[in-house]
Amino acid sequence: MTVRTRIAPSPTGDPHVGTAYIALFNLAFARQHGGQFILRIEDTDQTRSTPESEQAILDSLRWLGLEWDEGPDVGGPHGPYRQSDRKEMYRDFAMRLVEEGSAFLCFRTAEELDQLREAGKAEGRQRALKQSDLELPVEEMERRMAEGMPYVVRMKVPEEGICQVDDMLRGTLELDWAQVDAQILLKSDGMPTYHLANVVDDHLMQITHVIRGEEWINSAPKHKLLYQYFGWEMPKLCHMPLLRNPDKSKLSKRKNPTSILYYQRMGYMPEALLNYLGRMGWSMPDEREKFSRDDMFAQFDIQRVSLGGPVFDQEKLSWLNGLWIREELSPEQFAARFQQWALNPEYLMQLIPLIQPRVERFSDVAPLAGFFLSGMMPVSEASFEHKKLTIEDVRRILQFSSWYLDEQRHWGKDGLFEGLKGLGEGLGFKIRDFLFPLFVAISGTAQSVSVVDAMAILGPDISRARVRHALDSIGGTSKKQAKSWEKEYRSLNAGQ
Ligand code: GLU
Repeated sequence: MTVRTRIAPSPTGDPHVGTAYIALFNLAFARQHGGQFILRIEDTDQTRSTPESEQAILDSLRWLGLEWDEGPDVGGPHGPYRQSDRKEMYRDFAMRLVEEGSAFLCFRTAEELDQLREAGKAEGRQRALKQSDLELPVEEMERRMAEGMPYVVRMKVPEEGICQVDDMLRGTLELDWAQVDAQILLKSDGMPTYHLANVVDDHLMQITHVIRGEEWINSAPKHKLLYQYFGWEMPKLCHMPLLRNPDKSKLSKRKNPTSILYYQRMGYMPEALLNYLGRMGWSMPDEREKFSRDDMFAQFDIQRVSLGGPVFDQEKLSWLNGLWIREELSPEQFAARFQQWALNPEYLMQLIPLIQPRVERFSDVAPLAGFFLSGMMPVSEASFEHKKLTIEDVRRILQFSSWYLDEQRHWGKDGLFEGLKGLGEGLGFKIRDFLFPLFVAISGTAQSVSVVDAMAILGPDISRARVRHALDSIGGTSKKQAKSWEKEYRSLNAGQ
């Protein structure tokens, strides 16, 4: 048997360090067994998936040195490797299960589902919605079908009992069927859900080992049942521990930058970031901290993964990156890397149109544009002195902006400007005054290029981190204050 592993990201946002972490372990496992590693794009959620996000995922995984043998851009014998290009096929598989009696058409409306859930709660029912709850009398179902009402395909699941799932790291897991609902397999628009598409594709792509994050453990019973219904052999499952913030909560962009693009723009070496991700829950047999991708592959053993939640700590990463920079690069290599990072034409050409109209000599460039090549900006209360704003106003503006920026999924200068303008007006500030604290937070000074232009170029993670950093540098927001402000923020948003 040839070992085949895969990473199956959904292209719905910035490329996440968690995706790279899981990809690394899949690649290491495949290489250790002389197998193959596949990249598949799971874009069945058409409202949230974007081609830009897909491209950014491919670029950043490749930047890190995670190469796949088959994928949407390199092809392969089991393609296409993007689920939206495989759409037609899933319907046939869903219908096969309906014909065989393992799945059923469900014509229930959203209101009816709410009512059923409410009624279940009122009766004190502890279990999820099952086919027996959803069933309609035959005539009613035929009527709805004849009227062409929308329907979904759901799988049948046992009403009670225990499902046993074997996990390569966790042994046999026992999950309660009562908590598993009659999962939708095919949505009313004809698109498959994650569960159906994932199982069908893993089977057709001959995946032998599914190594993924522990957040998918609860999906395992549904997947196991689908493999049984189809009569297919199930790949071996391995659920990796989730990455955590230093306070042990689940790694989230509200507390810690999660985008690979952030680490790229902050000037980390890809080798060091990959090395650090390899240290998440895993260690070399000799416990050495610095190792290359190929060292890791040579020594890899998945059984050395420990399940205690690995902490992704930027300070530790920076320390490791420092080792790589000082020990692995000759001065010539350092120069070449730095040039590539700071002065590559793609980045430079975004800055030049903003800088050129504002300078008289080349020596004016660095003071004006230095913040494009920096990490966090050193600011203090004095940096925010302003004729019309008190320091309390500044705190409020930064806090509200920080929430706003956290929520933005599309990061373009026009959208940001409109959104911030609306927020500023809602809070009763003139736009110029409102943008002042953001200017300082982002560029370190009030005299600089347009702050929305700068944020668009720096990207969401650096921008968010700088606003958060500025807020912390002037004392932050107390929990109590944040609570009442957040209420106000929500009502402002609702009013827009
Ligand atoms: N599309 C899922 C994700 O976004 C894949 C989960 C899996 O590996 O099964 O992570």
